Amino acid sequence: MRNIPVKTFCLLLVVFTALSLKTHAQPAASPIGYERLQLKIQQLDSLHTLLSTQVIGTTVEGRNITAMKFSKGDFGTDATKIKVLFFAQQHGNEQSGKEGAMLLAEWLLQDENQHLLDRMDFALIPQINPDGSEANKRRNGNNADLNRNHLILTEPETQALHQFFNQYLFEVSMDVHEYSPYSDDWKEYGYRRNTDVALGSCTNPNVSADLRSFSNEEVLPFMMGEMQKQGFKSFVYCPGGPPEIDYIRHSTFDINDGRQSFGIQQTLSFIQEGMNGTDMFSENISFRARGQKEGMEALLVFVHKNAKEIKDMVQAARLQQFTYDSTRKVSIQAIHSNDGRKLQLPLYSYKTGNDTLVNVSDYRPVVKSITDVELPLGYLIPKQNTGLLAWADRQGLVRSNLPSDTKLIFHHYYIHTIDTIDFEGDATVDPMAELLAFKEAVDPVNYEFIPVNQFRGLMTVIALEPKSTLGLVTYPQFSYLLQKGTFFPVIRVTKE
Ligand SMILES: [Zn+2]
Repeated sequence: MRNIPVKTFCLLLVVFTALSLKTHAQPAASPIGYERLQLKIQQLDSLHTLLSTQVIGTTVEGRNITAMKFSKGDFGTDATKIKVLFFAQQHGNEQSGKEGAMLLAEWLLQDENQHLLDRMDFALIPQINPDGSEANKRRNGNNADLNRNHLILTEPETQALHQFFNQYLFEVSMDVHEYSPYSDDWKEYGYRRNTDVALGSCTNPNVSADLRSFSNEEVLPFMMGEMQKQGFKSFVYCPGGPPEIDYIRHSTFDINDGRQSFGIQQTLSFIQEGMNGTDMFSENISFRARGQKEGMEALLVFVHKNAKEIKDMVQAARLQQFTYDSTRKVSIQAIHSNDGRKLQLPLYSYKTGNDTLVNVSDYRPVVKSITDVELPLGYLIPKQNTGLLAWADRQGLVRSNLPSDTKLIFHHYYIHTIDTIDFEGDATVDPMAELLAFKEAVDPVNYEFIPVNQFRGLMTVIALEPKSTLGLVTYPQFSYLLQKGTFFPVIRVTKE
């Protein structure tokens, strides 16, 4: 290498640095780490009276999970206001959620945006999984996928989130994630998704039909319009594919994720999935963060505009949960199906380097129930089954005395065989379970009664029915409940 005088080298370095700064309009940014994030939250808290903070729990590795609570009054106490909860980064390697959340916090605290808080109390949890975030990995410190943990609630992070939810019973919620479009099978197909932010609503058939159609027909189109105005491509969150190999669906209908576990309590609930970078960590992080912030901002603006209508709709759906109706059916097995609708999926073509629309022949946007049960009054759990009772406590389920004003009927399931059934491409247990009258006299001393007329009542039915493809029996921790040639230990209670 030729010898370059030091002075010339320095000059070249300056010119080169200036040039590279010019070509990249902004210097490359990195996601903010846990310590700095906590500091930033504290700084905002000390500057603004509208903001207070609450440590809602501690992670496996001992970090704080902090909620930012925005209110013009005493948070959560004004019944005329709508209560909104956004939470981000359950998956630690989806960095842009917390970045977007902090942009949103700063935006909301600006004078011209504070009017949104006239009609709402807003809680924001930028980082549910700081342990995963620090290691830039999906799972938490116990190697658990938090977004599959909302039914069994074995992890401190999901427990904290649900306790916080139970404290305020939020009426609107959004769970913020990222998706990766860069898989090999899509590359082979020649196209990949190129949506900056994908938006999904609740799909479980037990979520109020009013809330589901309102989400799809009013909320999501508004949000997508706002995103477009800000220069971000958005589309309905529809996993599956690539086309011709696998069908495209409107996400899962399982209730073990952040969106649907609140949706099943008749919350107007969403998921947002920003597109991550090829390195998932820092690539394009400023743009990714802004996209997430614009999506969250759009939902806040929509909720503010329609606060009364949403509040009424949620309240009506929730009230229905407290009204016993034996003719009401609860879906415990469902499939994705088509209703004649066609889909043109916006994709990026590896060949042309442009975005394009691709016709999807196997599109299944509808979730159709294939097995229902009648709504019971509740379930009896044997007192010796401490694992199930601990689960009920983690969910915050109310226990009560058996109703005494009516003649009760008790049934239990006899498990003849245990087969399997397809659930979104995976095999899951499907017992042949026969519902039989409980022959012995039921001594209430030996059982705890979990009534279904409570916020988590429908969740309870889905969790405790042995044939439910979303039930507790489908988890290794509870597979012991299902044994061939025995009675399922949970007793179903109905009335004459
Ligand atoms: Zn995720």
